[in-house]
Amino acid sequence: MRLNGLVFRFHELSLAGRALRLAMLRIGLVSLSAGTVSYFVNQSSIEEGITRQLLLSTEQTLQLESLPFREIKDLQQNFLNDYKNIHARPGIEATLVRDFNQIFYRHDDGSYTQRPMLFEGKPLADGRRFTGMSATYAPDIPPDDDIKARFALSYILSHKYGSSTKGRLFNFYGVVPEKGFPIYQASDIAQVFTYSGPDALKLENYEFYERGFGTPGNSTVFTHVYWDMSNNAWMTTIATPDVADASGKHHILACVDVLLDDLMKRTAKPFVQGTFSIIFTADSDGTLVYHPNYMEQIKNSEGKASIRSLKIDPAYPLISAIQGLTPGKATVVQTQKAIVAVGIIPGTPWVLAVHYPRSMMIPMILSNLAIVIALGLLTLLVEIFILRSILQKQVAIPLSRLMQATRLLGLSKERWGHDVLPTESPDEIGELARDFAHMAERIQGAHEQLELQVQDRTAALEEANRQLKVLSTTDGLTGVANRRQFDEVLLSEWRRALRAGTLLSLMLIDVDYFKKYNDHYGHQAGDDCLRRVAKTLEAHALRAGDQVARYGGEEFALITTTLHTEKSFAHAQTLCDALEQMALPHALSPFGFVTVSIGVAVISPADGWTAEQLLKQADLALYCAKAQGRNQAALANMM
Ligand code: GH3
Ligand code: MG
Ligand code: MG
Repeated sequence: MRLNGLVFRFHELSLAGRALRLAMLRIGLVSLSAGTVSYFVNQSSIEEGITRQLLLSTEQTLQLESLPFREIKDLQQNFLNDYKNIHARPGIEATLVRDFNQIFYRHDDGSYTQRPMLFEGKPLADGRRFTGMSATYAPDIPPDDDIKARFALSYILSHKYGSSTKGRLFNFYGVVPEKGFPIYQASDIAQVFTYSGPDALKLENYEFYERGFGTPGNSTVFTHVYWDMSNNAWMTTIATPDVADASGKHHILACVDVLLDDLMKRTAKPFVQGTFSIIFTADSDGTLVYHPNYMEQIKNSEGKASIRSLKIDPAYPLISAIQGLTPGKATVVQTQKAIVAVGIIPGTPWVLAVHYPRSMMIPMILSNLAIVIALGLLTLLVEIFILRSILQKQVAIPLSRLMQATRLLGLSKERWGHDVLPTESPDEIGELARDFAHMAERIQGAHEQLELQVQDRTAALEEANRQLKVLSTTDGLTGVANRRQFDEVLLSEWRRALRAGTLLSLMLIDVDYFKKYNDHYGHQAGDDCLRRVAKTLEAHALRAGDQVARYGGEEFALITTTLHTEKSFAHAQTLCDALEQMALPHALSPFGFVTVSIGVAVISPADGWTAEQLLKQADLALYCAKAQGRNQAALANMM
């Protein structure tokens, strides 16, 4: 942004930039931890929801699937009750033996088969029909009337119960332990049981026969599931024996062959997409009835493949979970890969286990997580926006004004002025600005005072310098130029004359008999005399370039530029005359007053002379003036 010509930006190192970065960091951390917390909270709440749903639907399935088996059990129980009641009727045996003889005929080997065409519906002499029935009877011992009666009764009842459930159950048969096997068949499989000798049907090798008659109790037996080749279908046989008599012997076994294809189809198609179910027997191995991935193994093992033998979920949590489980109630088992609802189908020895793979929860958890993160980001944006505007208005702009004022501080007061400073802000920056304004004023005052002092001091110093210069170039006693100044002026005048091609004149002026003057009048008076001589000399050296100097002791020098040697000499004589006219008393001088002798030398620097030669010539001329009687000027002969 642009502020009073000052460019301001939220660059990396600025206060605002750092505050924003910190805000981002902070909200990033908050979002991350909120995300993590929500991940776990979500996971457990989603898991809880899924578990509840899973239990509920599993229990519904258990109840639903139990219905046909309950019906079968009821049917079998009714069959057994009918059997028992009819068999107990007095005089029934003779009737049943007659029926036996009508239905069966005897083979030469002593075994029996039902008469032809009964299966197809041919009536007996009394008009009864046994359509759909087949029967073989290969007794180990020749049948007596009791056996014949039981077999006939079983035949009649099998037809009754089988035909009444036609289309729903597959086969219905009541088996007598003496190898009597009358069966009602839903489909025409009569051929299978067509008599082919006494060894054709070895019932004792069948699981239902062996287990049904092999147990002293009368509980229902479910055989291993088997693949029925003739029907291309999965089946199990459910067999319930009657209550054993006092000798522990069963007399009849009610059996039903059940098609499991529908159950398996329903199981394979669970209520939620992605889940899968298995059915296994509630035994110690978890013998499998249905597993979507292992049907081939189940078929090949004749229904003996089990969770244990196939090493499915090797910790076998499902097998351990069934202990103490009430049929129809489901419980949850956590396996590594899935949440599993497990329950026994009432009326069966089977366990239904509905698997909900954990991987299915991930998208749900992630979508919840995404919401949390999106909220975090939204918060970040809002905070950045707020922070940015606060920082800009209340910090950055006032600070940049302060910085501007700081830079201008010390320059003239008009250039920054109070209006630049954010002194109106009610916050710390305002306070800083007000303090700054005070400080700036004090500095400004001190600055101005300092300037005044410097001006005063500079003037004093200049005056001192000027005086020093005068002192250093002036003779203290007489006030004319001193010897140093004389040397400088001689040099500069020499150069000037050289450039201009003019003549340079030097006079050496010596007070006559001055030692005697001192002796007579005293040193103090001598000094006064020297001062008056100097004054007189100055009074006659008025032209520009004329310079009187004290050459040493009572000796003075006068440098002048001149056009003619004669004029310079005449000037010297004027000086002598002036002293004479002043008539300063000198008792010990033959003249009676103070006089001077003057040596004059005039040369043209351009002619190759040197300043030393000029001095020397003037000195020689002075000597001449003294020698010729003093109080006169003598001109050096320069030719
Ligand atoms: P002449 O005529 O030959 O120049 O003789 P004179 O006596 O002037 O010369 P001399 O060189 O013998 O003496 C110079 C005297 O000047 C000696 C000294 O005491 C005196 N004198 C030199 N400087 C000063 C001064 O500053 N003040 C006073 N009062 N006397 C000075
Ligand atoms: Mg002298
Ligand atoms: Mg002298």
